Amino acid sequence: MSPSSERYARQVRFSPFGMEGQKRLAQGFAVVVGMGALGCVIANHLVRAGIGRIRLIDRDIVSWSNLHRQLLYTEADAESGVPKAEAAAAQLRTFNRQVAIEAAAVDLNSGNAESLLADADLIVDGTDHFGVRYLINDVAVKFGIPWIYGGAVGASGMTMTIVPGETPCYRCLFPSPPPPGSTDTCETAGVLPPIVDLIGSLQAMEAIKLLGGYKEQLHGALLHADLWKTDFSKMKTAGARRADCPCCGIRRFDYLEAVVRGKSEAVLCGRETVQIAPAEPLQLHLDEMAERLKSAGRVERNPWLLRLTLEDGITLVLFPDGRVLVQGTGDPDLARRIYDRILAP
Ligand SMILES: [Zn+2]
Repeated sequence: MSPSSERYARQVRFSPFGMEGQKRLAQGFAVVVGMGALGCVIANHLVRAGIGRIRLIDRDIVSWSNLHRQLLYTEADAESGVPKAEAAAAQLRTFNRQVAIEAAAVDLNSGNAESLLADADLIVDGTDHFGVRYLINDVAVKFGIPWIYGGAVGASGMTMTIVPGETPCYRCLFPSPPPPGSTDTCETAGVLPPIVDLIGSLQAMEAIKLLGGYKEQLHGALLHADLWKTDFSKMKTAGARRADCPCCGIRRFDYLEAVVRGKSEAVLCGRETVQIAPAEPLQLHLDEMAERLKSAGRVERNPWLLRLTLEDGITLVLFPDGRVLVQGTGDPDLARRIYDRILAP
């Protein structure tokens, strides 16, 4: 038995999947958006199961508060502040060298979503950001790509699989994002790790069915699980497609076609982190900046980013595409002032 056939022997032996499913999976290409707890579970399963190619998208770096639930990261990753996409890719390559693994340490937005998503056979949602889900839904419906929504917070979570043209889309069920601050997040409500394993595993199973060619086995529902109350529910989504859905009914892609913002934008992306993203992609010369910023604080450089720690404990993380994470404050205005003070010409 060759290492390759031995590697997948147990899943091929599951006869409804079989060698045919395995061969199709090996041709499959999935993009995982968000490499937090869900993304780690999903990518782990898909890479070990023998997907052909996978792209991991995440804008953030590994931090200590991630380690209790984000299974692909190590203490060394948190210490050195490696981008999650890079840390995950490096770890996953040690699990299965046959898979083509791409890391994209970028912020998915309307400007780059088509180039990062539209070539995929499947998109899997590992993000905790509502705006990004509507963006994924737009790209998926526009290009006819299936996608698997998932979310988890506290001890409960939900998932649904969207097959454009066949099932309702995300917007059929949830026409618009909830107002900011109106829903729980892992920052505000916390999260107990087993729920993300459960939801991520449900998503990975749907991905394996889809890429393996067994679409008829999809669960066809909005699944909900609460592991604190040990309560499970399954709401069938057949018949929930809406002819007047702005996205799949009218084919208006509001989130994808969002007018590019005129000014760089500061958004809260964690209780103590604000991201400032340029309106247009930039090319920062991090080596030059490292020299220049030495006077402002302690500068650390790794292959992917530059980290500047100021005297007052605020840390700026600079990426080559011009994005900056201001860590140590939850106030976008303060973050903007620090950004302008240190980085504006
Ligand atoms: Zn729809």
